Amino acid sequence: MPDSTQSLALSTRSVTAGRPRRDPDAPLNAPLVLASTYVAGGTMEYGRYGNPTWEAFEEALGALENGRALAFSSGVAAIATVLDLVPVGGVVVAPRHAYLGTLGQLADLEASGRIAEARLVDVADTDAVRCAVTGADLLLVESPTNPALEIADLPAVCAAGRAEGAVVVVDNTFATPLLQRPIDVGADIVAHSVTKFLAGHGDVVMGALVTAPTPRGDELYGRLEERRKRFGAIPGPFEAWLALRGMRTLHVRLERACANAAELADRLSRHRAVERVRYPGLPTDPGHARARDQMDGFGAIISIEVRGGLAAADRVTRMTRLWVNATSLGGVESTLERRRRWPGESPTIPDNLVRLSVGIEDVDDLWADLDAALNAVAEDAGST
Ligand SMILES: *Cc1c(COP(=O)(O)O)cnc(C)c1O
Repeated sequence: MPDSTQSLALSTRSVTAGRPRRDPDAPLNAPLVLASTYVAGGTMEYGRYGNPTWEAFEEALGALENGRALAFSSGVAAIATVLDLVPVGGVVVAPRHAYLGTLGQLADLEASGRIAEARLVDVADTDAVRCAVTGADLLLVESPTNPALEIADLPAVCAAGRAEGAVVVVDNTFATPLLQRPIDVGADIVAHSVTKFLAGHGDVVMGALVTAPTPRGDELYGRLEERRKRFGAIPGPFEAWLALRGMRTLHVRLERACANAAELADRLSRHRAVERVRYPGLPTDPGHARARDQMDGFGAIISIEVRGGLAAADRVTRMTRLWVNATSLGGVESTLERRRRWPGESPTIPDNLVRLSVGIEDVDDLWADLDAALNAVAEDAGST
């Protein structure tokens, strides 16, 4: 990308960043380069060290997050690499409601003695975060959190972590760089499950880290890249190619998905079969004011608590015809699942919580399907 990248709108960057030079007959898209080895004497050398298709993806994601990106084989591989930065016997602060794979890694590291402690906090409670980061080596934040959709005060918690000398990492999977850019408000590293919104079509598993464009960020980039080479948590070139192709339409997909989610959250909040709706775009949501101040949109994930408990929630997820009962999120197709069906999910997540990943279908079709499933369950509950 030309030096002017920073002056372009994010939507333009998502279309233009990471393209080949405009030489005559150059392809417009970065080629899919399948290579385990390269002719000696250059910068790639070997397929575990570098790949031109990864680089195109990394250039595009870096342009969106305002940092330097590194592609990984999955979101959890990216998180594991970040957690490996923590010194032996170190302390990590993380959200008590976070992606269950992240919580599982922390529990394993703590159980084995690799880290002294994983302090799990409510990241929406800034004072609790300030308290917990005392003496911490790494602060890992999600905002919105998965699947509770709590909103952290990102500038305040990043500042608190940095003041303690902790490496500050923000998992930006739910918001994407189009809705918030954590590096701009003080994060050292942004983590992504590229699998979700960035790739966006339910056909790729991939992760990424992005480091801040600062001396400290550059030092972290070097350590992370070294670990990617050592541990080999590298993406396949085809995954990187698909993810970059998906990112070209991120802004238009997200615009529709967020608009659909806002409309559905409003309708759900008035549905008799729903006890509670969590969506930062709802004026009544505890995270609303903060999200409005620090985000450029409220995202496309909604969590609802279904009246009638676990069984009713399970029935809703089995009764929809358009919405797919499936895990993962951030694709063009709408999916839903009861999160506590996973044994690793935090026990403080209600067992009737259903997480909705809103896609880009027609909103009235989505509503009709969801409304029918909720009504059927509510009627059964009423008649017994
Ligand atoms: C899915 C997810 C991950 C893990 O990513 P994978 O690509 O599945 O390995 C990490 N963080 C968040 C917030 C996620 O939703």
